[in-house]
Amino acid sequence: MFKFAIFGNPITHSLSPSIHQFFAKQLDLMIDYQKIETPIGKLREKLNRFRQQGGHGANITLPFKEEAAKYADELTERARLSQSVNTLIFEPDGKCIGDNTDGIGFLRDITHRLHWKLRDKNILLIGAGGAARGILPAIISEKPKHIFVWNRSASKIEKMAKDFEAVVPVSNIKNHEFNIIINATNANFQHDIDLSCELKNTNCFDLNYGERHQTFLKWCQLHHSNTISDGLGMLIEQAAESFFQWTGRKPYASNALMKFSIST
Ligand code: NDP
Repeated sequence: MFKFAIFGNPITHSLSPSIHQFFAKQLDLMIDYQKIETPIGKLREKLNRFRQQGGHGANITLPFKEEAAKYADELTERARLSQSVNTLIFEPDGKCIGDNTDGIGFLRDITHRLHWKLRDKNILLIGAGGAARGILPAIISEKPKHIFVWNRSASKIEKMAKDFEAVVPVSNIKNHEFNIIINATNANFQHDIDLSCELKNTNCFDLNYGERHQTFLKWCQLHHSNTISDGLGMLIEQAAESFFQWTGRKPYASNALMKFSIST
């Protein structure tokens, strides 16, 4: 029996336990996957207790991804680049490895399911939080023409531009044309961002799904976006990669997407 958990705050609505149980059933494995609501300042304590109770791995969500990067003894290359961890692997020798599967999850969804190409494209990434940093190394690896980034707070975007040479910070996005726009904020951003151009030739991807996808969806439709996708496919792909890192077994993400698209 594998023992996993997701740590975050809030955590009530997380789909992760159901997704991982679905994977386990597919692969005929037994898992216990809990949601652990974690008060701010208590991540280390909660993780230590979970490990003492025999935890094999953990997912980390808002607002602890950067703190989890500090908790890990070692980081994978993709986690080191993003300084953000969504997956912890507790090895039998007591070592804790921090990984970030958001980037590979994003890339698999965007290239395998949606068949969007990033190479030589002009991309606008909206947001500079943990999720934006998590997917950046994967975006860069596809060699787009430009990666423009807009964020509400200047400090985070300055840090991002310092850490990632390929990033071009933009303060005004009105006069640019983008092939792909990625929303990596958790905001009602249409009130904050003045983008009055048409999006007829632009594919729009939202990391959010369900209710939280609605404002971005409406905004894209209003501006006649060519194609719009929510973040459910990415959620399932990043979970599939975490599951693989923990168990060495690869789940079938497309089956899960069908199931969870129907139930959300
Ligand atoms: P963070 O808290 O780290 O970052 C939030 C981002 O949203 C920041 O860039 C922040 O800007 C911006 N933001 C918040 N409020 C506003 C506002 N009113 N106006 C403009 N910008 C705003 O969160 P994460 O990066 O971890 O997550 C972002 C979203 O992505 C979440 O909704 C999360 O659920 C989703 N997500 C989805 C995944 C999936 O698999 N589908 C995986 C990971 C995340 P500022 O810097 O100015 O505060």
